[in-house]
Amino acid sequence: MTPGAMTPESFATALRCVECGREHPLGYVLECTACRGLLELAYDWEALRRAGPRVFTGGGLWRYAPVLPIADPAHRVTLGEGQSPLLDCPALGRRLGVRRLQVKFEGSNPTGTVKDRSSPTAVAAALQFGFRATSVVSSGNAGSSIAAYSARAGLRSLIFAYERTSAPKLLHMTAAATDLVLYQGVYDDLITLWDRLVEERLFFDCGASRNAYKHEGKKTLAYEIAEQSGWRAPDVVVAPAAVGETFIATHRGFVELERLGWIARRPLMVAAQAARANPITRAWRSRRPLEAVKIGYTVAEGLAAGNPGRKGEWVLRILNESGGVAGEAEDEEILEAQTLLARTEGIWAGPTGVAALAVLRRLLAEKAVDPDAAICVILSETGLKTEARAPTRRATAFDAASLRRLVEATLRP
Ligand SMILES: *Cc1c(COP(=O)(O)O)cnc(C)c1O
Ligand SMILES: [Zn+2]
Repeated sequence: MTPGAMTPESFATALRCVECGREHPLGYVLECTACRGLLELAYDWEALRRAGPRVFTGGGLWRYAPVLPIADPAHRVTLGEGQSPLLDCPALGRRLGVRRLQVKFEGSNPTGTVKDRSSPTAVAAALQFGFRATSVVSSGNAGSSIAAYSARAGLRSLIFAYERTSAPKLLHMTAAATDLVLYQGVYDDLITLWDRLVEERLFFDCGASRNAYKHEGKKTLAYEIAEQSGWRAPDVVVAPAAVGETFIATHRGFVELERLGWIARRPLMVAAQAARANPITRAWRSRRPLEAVKIGYTVAEGLAAGNPGRKGEWVLRILNESGGVAGEAEDEEILEAQTLLARTEGIWAGPTGVAALAVLRRLLAEKAVDPDAAICVILSETGLKTEARAPTRRATAFDAASLRRLVEATLRP
Protein backbone atom coordinates (compact mmCIF):
# COMPACT_ATOMS: atom_id res chain seq x y z
CA MET A 1 0.00 0.00 0.00
CA THR A 2 1.28 3.47 -0.82
CA PRO A 3 1.89 5.39 2.35
CA GLY A 4 -1.02 7.69 3.06
CA ALA A 5 -3.23 6.15 0.39
CA MET A 6 -5.91 5.17 2.88
CA THR A 7 -5.49 8.11 5.23
CA PRO A 8 -7.70 10.97 4.17
CA GLU A 9 -6.29 14.44 4.45
CA SER A 10 -7.91 17.20 6.47
CA PHE A 11 -9.48 19.99 4.42
CA ALA A 12 -9.28 22.46 7.32
CA THR A 13 -7.80 25.79 6.23
CA ALA A 14 -8.13 28.25 9.12
CA LEU A 15 -9.83 29.27 12.35
CA ARG A 16 -12.48 31.92 11.76
CA CYS A 17 -13.91 34.29 14.35
CA VAL A 18 -17.62 33.77 14.88
CA GLU A 19 -18.04 37.47 15.76
CA CYS A 20 -15.90 39.45 13.29
CA GLY A 21 -14.98 36.87 10.66
CA ARG A 22 -11.23 37.37 10.99
CA GLU A 23 -9.22 34.30 10.01
CA HIS A 24 -6.35 32.84 12.03
CA PRO A 25 -3.85 30.19 10.97
CA LEU A 26 -4.41 26.66 12.30
CA GLY A 27 -2.51 26.98 15.59
CA TYR A 28 -3.44 26.61 19.24
CA VAL A 29 -5.54 29.78 19.32
CA LEU A 30 -8.64 29.81 21.51
CA GLU A 31 -10.07 33.25 20.85
CA CYS A 32 -9.97 35.86 18.11
CA THR A 33 -6.86 37.99 18.50
CA ALA A 34 -8.80 41.04 17.30
CA CYS A 35 -12.08 40.85 19.28
CA ARG A 36 -11.75 37.83 21.63
CA GLY A 37 -14.70 36.17 19.86
CA LEU A 38 -15.02 32.39 19.75
CA LEU A 39 -13.41 30.62 16.81
CA GLU A 40 -14.71 27.97 14.48
CA LEU A 41 -12.95 25.98 11.81
CA ALA A 42 -12.99 26.86 8.14
CA TYR A 43 -12.51 24.30 5.35
CA ASP A 44 -11.84 24.20 1.65
CA TRP A 45 -15.51 23.75 0.72
CA GLU A 46 -14.88 23.78 -3.03
CA ALA A 47 -12.44 20.88 -2.80
CA LEU A 48 -14.81 18.96 -0.54
CA ARG A 49 -17.75 19.56 -2.87
CA ARG A 50 -15.71 18.28 -5.80
CA ALA A 51 -14.61 15.19 -3.86
CA GLY A 52 -18.16 14.33 -2.73
CA PRO A 53 -19.07 12.11 0.23
CA ARG A 54 -16.70 9.48 -1.15
CA VAL A 55 -13.98 11.51 0.57
CA PHE A 56 -15.01 9.66 3.75
CA THR A 57 -13.24 6.32 4.13
CA GLY A 58 -12.63 3.89 6.97
CA GLY A 59 -14.73 3.53 10.09
CA GLY A 60 -15.42 5.28 13.36
CA LEU A 61 -15.06 8.95 14.08
CA TRP A 62 -11.98 9.44 11.90
CA ARG A 63 -13.99 8.41 8.88
CA TYR A 64 -14.85 12.12 8.93
CA ALA A 65 -11.21 13.25 9.19
CA PRO A 66 -11.52 15.36 6.00
CA VAL A 67 -13.90 17.67 7.88
CA LEU A 68 -11.90 17.60 11.14
CA PRO A 69 -8.85 19.75 11.95
CA ILE A 70 -6.19 17.11 12.59
CA ALA A 71 -3.69 17.02 9.74
CA ASP A 72 -1.33 14.19 10.75
CA PRO A 73 -2.93 10.71 10.86
CA ALA A 74 -0.41 9.75 13.55
CA HIS A 75 -2.17 12.15 15.93
CA ARG A 76 -5.65 10.71 15.36
CA VAL A 77 -6.11 8.89 18.66
CA THR A 78 -8.98 6.41 18.78
CA LEU A 79 -10.70 3.95 21.11
CA GLY A 80 -13.17 2.85 18.46
CA GLU A 81 -15.69 5.66 19.02
CA GLY A 82 -18.43 6.79 16.65
CA GLN A 83 -20.64 4.80 14.27
CA SER A 84 -23.16 4.64 17.08
CA PRO A 85 -26.51 3.06 16.25
CA LEU A 86 -29.28 5.15 14.71
CA LEU A 87 -32.30 3.15 15.76
CA ASP A 88 -35.88 3.27 14.55
CA CYS A 89 -38.20 3.27 17.57
CA PRO A 90 -41.67 2.42 16.31
CA ALA A 91 -43.04 1.25 19.68
CA LEU A 92 -41.87 4.34 21.49
CA GLY A 93 -43.06 6.45 18.57
CA ARG A 94 -46.57 5.00 18.95
CA ARG A 95 -46.52 5.71 22.69
CA LEU A 96 -45.57 9.31 22.01
CA GLY A 97 -47.88 9.71 19.01
CA VAL A 98 -44.97 10.42 16.69
CA ARG A 99 -45.11 9.17 13.09
CA ARG A 100 -41.37 8.48 12.71
CA LEU A 101 -39.08 8.39 15.73
CA GLN A 102 -35.40 7.53 15.71
CA VAL A 103 -32.75 7.70 18.41
CA LYS A 104 -29.02 8.13 18.03
CA PHE A 105 -27.64 6.09 20.92
CA GLU A 106 -24.32 7.51 22.05
CA GLY A 107 -24.11 5.05 24.93
CA SER A 108 -22.25 2.67 22.62
CA ASN A 109 -19.13 4.86 22.66
CA PRO A 110 -16.00 3.64 24.52
CA THR A 111 -16.69 5.56 27.74
CA GLY A 112 -20.43 5.46 27.23
CA THR A 113 -21.17 9.04 26.21
CA VAL A 114 -21.19 11.62 23.43
CA LYS A 115 -18.01 13.07 25.01
CA ASP A 116 -16.12 10.39 23.08
CA ARG A 117 -16.65 12.48 19.96
CA SER A 118 -14.91 15.61 21.27
CA SER A 119 -12.18 13.92 23.33
CA PRO A 120 -10.46 12.33 20.29
CA THR A 121 -10.14 15.66 18.47
CA ALA A 122 -9.13 17.42 21.72
CA VAL A 123 -6.42 14.93 22.59
CA ALA A 124 -5.30 14.69 18.95
CA ALA A 125 -4.93 18.49 18.94
CA ALA A 126 -2.94 18.29 22.19
CA LEU A 127 -0.53 15.96 20.36
CA GLN A 128 -0.59 18.15 17.26
CA PHE A 129 0.49 21.16 19.30
CA GLY A 130 3.07 19.27 21.35
CA PHE A 131 1.38 19.30 24.77
CA ARG A 132 2.22 16.69 27.40
CA ALA A 133 -0.80 17.17 29.67
CA THR A 134 -4.54 17.71 29.31
CA SER A 135 -7.03 19.12 31.80
CA VAL A 136 -10.79 19.55 32.10
CA VAL A 137 -13.43 20.62 34.64
CA SER A 138 -16.18 18.06 34.49
CA SER A 139 -19.40 16.84 36.04
CA GLY A 140 -18.08 13.35 35.30
CA ASN A 141 -18.45 12.32 31.68
CA ALA A 142 -15.93 14.70 30.13
CA GLY A 143 -13.41 13.84 32.83
CA SER A 144 -13.93 10.16 32.26
CA SER A 145 -13.56 10.50 28.50
CA ILE A 146 -10.61 12.92 28.47
CA ALA A 147 -8.79 10.72 30.98
CA ALA A 148 -9.30 7.66 28.78
CA TYR A 149 -8.17 9.33 25.54
CA SER A 150 -5.22 11.00 27.27
CA ALA A 151 -4.13 7.61 28.60
CA ARG A 152 -4.45 6.16 25.14
CA ALA A 153 -2.25 8.96 23.75
CA GLY A 154 0.29 8.66 26.57
CA LEU A 155 -0.51 12.10 27.96
CA ARG A 156 -0.89 13.16 31.53
CA SER A 157 -4.45 14.17 32.53
CA LEU A 158 -5.42 16.51 35.35
CA ILE A 159 -9.13 15.97 35.84
CA PHE A 160 -11.33 18.15 38.05
CA ALA A 161 -14.52 16.26 38.82
CA TYR A 162 -17.85 17.20 40.44
CA GLU A 163 -17.96 15.98 44.05
CA ARG A 164 -21.42 14.46 43.46
CA THR A 165 -20.53 12.66 40.26
CA SER A 166 -21.89 9.12 40.15
CA ALA A 167 -19.76 6.30 41.55
CA PRO A 168 -19.22 4.47 38.23
CA LYS A 169 -17.83 7.67 36.67
CA LEU A 170 -15.61 8.25 39.67
CA LEU A 171 -14.36 4.69 39.59
CA HIS A 172 -13.49 5.06 35.92
CA MET A 173 -11.73 8.41 36.39
CA THR A 174 -9.75 7.09 39.32
CA ALA A 175 -8.46 4.30 37.11
CA ALA A 176 -7.86 6.27 33.91
CA ALA A 177 -6.70 9.75 35.03
CA THR A 178 -3.12 10.36 36.06
CA ASP A 179 -4.34 13.13 38.39
CA LEU A 180 -7.88 13.40 39.72
CA VAL A 181 -9.21 16.16 42.00
CA LEU A 182 -12.80 16.50 43.23
CA TYR A 183 -14.08 20.06 43.50
CA GLN A 184 -16.68 21.43 45.89
CA GLY A 185 -19.83 23.02 44.51
CA VAL A 186 -20.97 22.82 40.89
CA TYR A 187 -19.25 23.22 37.51
CA ASP A 188 -19.98 26.96 37.43
CA ASP A 189 -18.03 27.51 40.65
CA LEU A 190 -14.72 26.31 39.22
CA ILE A 191 -14.83 26.81 35.48
CA THR A 192 -14.07 30.56 35.44
CA LEU A 193 -11.01 30.14 37.67
CA TRP A 194 -9.76 27.19 35.66
CA ASP A 195 -10.36 28.96 32.34
CA ARG A 196 -7.98 31.72 33.40
CA LEU A 197 -5.17 29.18 33.83
CA VAL A 198 -5.60 27.93 30.28
CA GLU A 199 -3.62 30.90 28.94
CA GLU A 200 -0.52 29.77 30.84
CA ARG A 201 -0.31 26.64 28.70
CA LEU A 202 0.56 24.28 31.54
CA PHE A 203 -2.01 21.93 30.04
CA PHE A 204 -3.99 21.59 26.85
CA ASP A 205 -7.50 23.06 27.17
CA CYS A 206 -10.00 20.19 27.06
CA GLY A 207 -12.84 22.36 28.38
CA ALA A 208 -16.07 23.12 26.55
CA SER A 209 -15.85 26.92 26.74
CA ARG A 210 -13.53 27.85 23.89
CA ASN A 211 -11.44 25.16 22.25
CA ALA A 212 -12.60 24.87 18.62
CA TYR A 213 -10.58 21.69 18.04
CA LYS A 214 -12.38 19.86 20.80
CA HIS A 215 -15.78 21.25 19.88
CA GLU A 216 -15.36 20.17 16.26
CA GLY A 217 -15.39 16.42 16.99
CA LYS A 218 -19.00 16.56 18.09
CA LYS A 219 -20.23 17.63 14.67
CA THR A 220 -19.60 14.06 13.49
CA LEU A 221 -23.00 13.36 15.08
CA ALA A 222 -24.62 15.20 12.18
CA TYR A 223 -22.44 13.56 9.53
CA GLU A 224 -23.20 10.13 10.92
CA ILE A 225 -26.95 10.66 11.22
CA ALA A 226 -27.05 11.94 7.63
CA GLU A 227 -24.87 9.16 6.23
CA GLN A 228 -26.74 6.43 8.14
CA SER A 229 -29.94 7.84 6.60
CA GLY A 230 -28.60 7.68 3.04
CA TRP A 231 -27.49 11.34 3.06
CA ARG A 232 -30.74 12.69 4.35
CA ALA A 233 -31.48 14.62 7.52
CA PRO A 234 -34.42 14.06 9.86
CA ASP A 235 -36.96 16.92 10.03
CA VAL A 236 -36.24 17.54 13.71
CA VAL A 237 -33.21 16.74 15.88
CA VAL A 238 -33.51 16.95 19.67
CA ALA A 239 -30.11 17.49 21.30
CA PRO A 240 -29.18 17.97 24.96
CA ALA A 241 -27.65 21.33 25.92
CA ALA A 242 -25.54 22.11 28.98
CA VAL A 243 -22.72 24.41 27.85
CA GLY A 244 -24.05 23.95 24.32
CA GLU A 245 -21.14 22.26 22.57
CA THR A 246 -23.13 19.22 21.44
CA PHE A 247 -26.02 21.33 20.21
CA ILE A 248 -23.90 23.90 18.35
CA ALA A 249 -21.61 21.33 16.77
CA THR A 250 -24.49 19.11 15.63
CA HIS A 251 -26.25 22.09 14.10
CA ARG A 252 -23.01 23.12 12.46
CA GLY A 253 -22.53 19.65 10.94
CA PHE A 254 -25.94 19.83 9.30
CA VAL A 255 -25.32 23.37 8.04
CA GLU A 256 -22.06 22.18 6.44
CA LEU A 257 -23.81 19.23 4.81
CA GLU A 258 -26.49 21.53 3.41
CA ARG A 259 -23.83 23.88 2.12
CA LEU A 260 -22.00 20.98 0.46
CA GLY A 261 -25.27 19.93 -1.15
CA TRP A 262 -24.98 16.47 0.43
CA ILE A 263 -28.32 16.84 2.22
CA ALA A 264 -31.28 18.77 0.83
CA ARG A 265 -32.28 20.50 4.05
CA ARG A 266 -30.96 20.88 7.57
CA PRO A 267 -33.23 19.75 10.42
CA LEU A 268 -35.00 21.97 12.88
CA MET A 269 -32.99 21.88 16.12
CA VAL A 270 -34.47 21.44 19.59
CA ALA A 271 -32.29 22.24 22.62
CA ALA A 272 -33.11 20.06 25.63
CA GLN A 273 -32.27 21.06 29.19
CA ALA A 274 -32.94 19.84 32.71
CA ALA A 275 -35.53 22.06 34.43
CA ARG A 276 -33.08 22.42 37.33
CA ALA A 277 -30.37 23.79 35.01
CA ASN A 278 -32.28 25.71 32.38
CA PRO A 279 -30.67 29.09 31.58
CA ILE A 280 -30.98 28.66 27.81
CA THR A 281 -34.61 27.56 27.92
CA ARG A 282 -35.50 30.44 30.21
CA ALA A 283 -33.87 33.02 27.97
CA TRP A 284 -35.42 31.52 24.84
CA ARG A 285 -38.91 31.41 26.34
CA SER A 286 -38.81 34.94 27.73
CA ARG A 287 -37.05 36.32 24.62
CA ARG A 288 -34.44 37.88 26.85
CA PRO A 289 -30.63 37.71 26.86
CA LEU A 290 -29.01 34.73 28.55
CA GLU A 291 -28.62 35.04 32.32
CA ALA A 292 -26.76 32.61 34.53
CA VAL A 293 -28.95 30.71 37.00
CA LYS A 294 -27.91 29.33 40.35
CA ILE A 295 -28.37 25.59 40.17
CA GLY A 296 -28.53 22.71 42.60
CA TYR A 297 -28.54 18.99 41.93
CA THR A 298 -30.27 17.37 38.98
CA VAL A 299 -30.31 13.67 38.12
CA ALA A 300 -29.13 14.81 34.68
CA GLU A 301 -25.63 15.38 36.09
CA GLY A 302 -24.08 16.08 32.72
CA LEU A 303 -26.51 18.93 32.12
CA ALA A 304 -25.76 20.66 35.41
CA ALA A 305 -24.44 23.98 34.10
CA GLY A 306 -26.14 27.19 35.21
CA ASN A 307 -23.73 29.48 33.40
CA PRO A 308 -23.08 28.32 29.84
CA GLY A 309 -21.47 31.64 28.96
CA ARG A 310 -20.78 32.54 25.35
CA LYS A 311 -21.68 29.12 24.00
CA GLY A 312 -25.07 29.46 25.66
CA GLU A 313 -25.53 32.75 23.79
CA TRP A 314 -24.50 30.97 20.60
CA VAL A 315 -27.18 28.30 21.17
CA LEU A 316 -29.75 31.07 21.62
CA ARG A 317 -28.64 32.75 18.42
CA ILE A 318 -29.03 29.48 16.51
CA LEU A 319 -32.49 28.93 17.99
CA ASN A 320 -33.60 32.46 17.18
CA GLU A 321 -32.16 32.55 13.67
CA SER A 322 -33.41 29.12 12.65
CA GLY A 323 -36.81 28.96 14.34
CA GLY A 324 -35.57 26.27 16.72
CA VAL A 325 -37.16 25.31 20.02
CA ALA A 326 -35.84 25.01 23.58
CA GLY A 327 -37.45 22.86 26.24
CA GLU A 328 -36.86 21.40 29.67
CA ALA A 329 -37.89 18.43 31.80
CA GLU A 330 -38.10 17.86 35.54
CA ASP A 331 -36.03 15.11 37.17
CA GLU A 332 -39.15 12.95 37.64
CA GLU A 333 -40.00 13.22 33.95
CA ILE A 334 -36.44 12.30 33.02
CA LEU A 335 -36.50 9.17 35.20
CA GLU A 336 -39.89 8.23 33.77
CA ALA A 337 -38.57 8.58 30.22
CA GLN A 338 -35.60 6.40 31.16
CA THR A 339 -37.89 3.52 32.19
CA LEU A 340 -40.23 4.04 29.24
CA LEU A 341 -37.32 3.84 26.79
CA ALA A 342 -35.92 0.70 28.42
CA ARG A 343 -39.31 -0.99 28.45
CA THR A 344 -40.52 -0.04 24.98
CA GLU A 345 -37.28 -0.31 23.02
CA GLY A 346 -34.70 -2.04 25.24
CA ILE A 347 -32.38 0.95 25.24
CA TRP A 348 -30.76 1.81 28.56
CA ALA A 349 -29.70 5.45 28.73
CA GLY A 350 -28.61 7.42 31.78
CA PRO A 351 -30.65 10.38 33.08
CA THR A 352 -28.40 12.88 31.32
CA GLY A 353 -28.61 10.81 28.19
CA VAL A 354 -32.38 10.50 28.18
CA ALA A 355 -33.22 14.10 29.11
CA ALA A 356 -33.71 14.96 25.44
CA LEU A 357 -36.41 12.31 25.18
CA ALA A 358 -38.18 13.62 28.29
CA VAL A 359 -38.05 17.11 26.80
CA LEU A 360 -39.47 15.87 23.49
CA ARG A 361 -42.37 14.26 25.35
CA ARG A 362 -43.19 17.53 27.02
CA LEU A 363 -42.87 19.57 23.85
CA LEU A 364 -45.20 17.17 22.04
CA ALA A 365 -47.77 17.58 24.82
CA GLU A 366 -47.40 21.36 24.50
CA LYS A 367 -47.76 21.06 20.70
CA ALA A 368 -44.43 22.82 20.25
CA VAL A 369 -43.09 20.00 18.03
CA ASP A 370 -44.92 18.50 15.04
CA PRO A 371 -45.71 14.79 15.66
CA ASP A 372 -45.88 14.19 11.89
CA ALA A 373 -42.24 15.18 11.49
CA ALA A 374 -39.42 12.62 11.30
CA ILE A 375 -37.80 13.17 14.69
CA CYS A 376 -34.36 12.06 15.83
CA VAL A 377 -33.45 12.22 19.53
CA ILE A 378 -29.84 12.18 20.62
CA LEU A 379 -29.47 9.87 23.62
CA SER A 380 -26.11 11.02 24.84
CA GLU A 381 -25.20 8.54 27.58
CA THR A 382 -25.43 4.89 28.62
CA GLY A 383 -27.41 4.02 31.74
CA LEU A 384 -24.51 1.93 33.00
CA LYS A 385 -22.65 4.97 34.33
CA THR A 386 -25.49 5.90 36.66
CA GLU A 387 -25.32 5.40 40.39
CA ALA A 388 -28.41 3.92 41.98
CA ARG A 389 -29.54 1.98 44.97
CA ALA A 390 -30.57 -1.50 43.88
CA PRO A 391 -34.40 -1.56 43.60
CA THR A 392 -34.50 -4.86 45.52
CA ARG A 393 -32.17 -7.53 46.86
CA ARG A 394 -34.94 -9.87 48.01
CA ALA A 395 -33.93 -13.28 46.67
CA THR A 396 -35.64 -16.64 46.40
CA ALA A 397 -34.27 -20.15 47.09
CA PHE A 398 -35.68 -22.67 44.59
CA ASP A 399 -36.15 -26.39 44.28
CA ALA A 400 -37.31 -28.08 41.07
CA ALA A 401 -41.01 -27.87 41.97
CA SER A 402 -41.06 -24.29 43.18
CA LEU A 403 -39.09 -23.16 40.13
CA ARG A 404 -41.59 -24.83 37.79
CA ARG A 405 -44.51 -23.31 39.73
CA LEU A 406 -43.07 -19.84 39.48
CA VAL A 407 -42.29 -20.03 35.76
CA GLU A 408 -45.74 -21.43 34.98
CA ALA A 409 -47.54 -18.92 37.16
CA THR A 410 -45.61 -16.03 35.65
CA LEU A 411 -45.78 -16.94 31.99
CA ARG A 412 -49.03 -18.92 31.61
CA PRO A 413 -51.13 -17.06 29.03
C1 LIG B 1 -21.64 16.86 28.39
C2 LIG B 1 -22.86 16.12 28.07
C3 LIG B 1 -23.94 16.67 27.32
C4 LIG B 1 -24.05 18.01 26.74
O1 LIG B 1 -23.20 18.97 27.13
P1 LIG B 1 -22.81 20.23 26.24
O2 LIG B 1 -21.84 20.93 27.10
O3 LIG B 1 -24.03 21.02 26.02
O4 LIG B 1 -22.23 19.72 25.00
C5 LIG B 1 -25.01 15.86 27.08
N1 LIG B 1 -25.07 14.60 27.50
C6 LIG B 1 -24.06 14.04 28.17
C7 LIG B 1 -24.21 12.63 28.59
C8 LIG B 1 -22.94 14.77 28.49
O5 LIG B 1 -21.97 14.17 29.18
ZN1 LIG C 1 -13.04 38.50 16.05
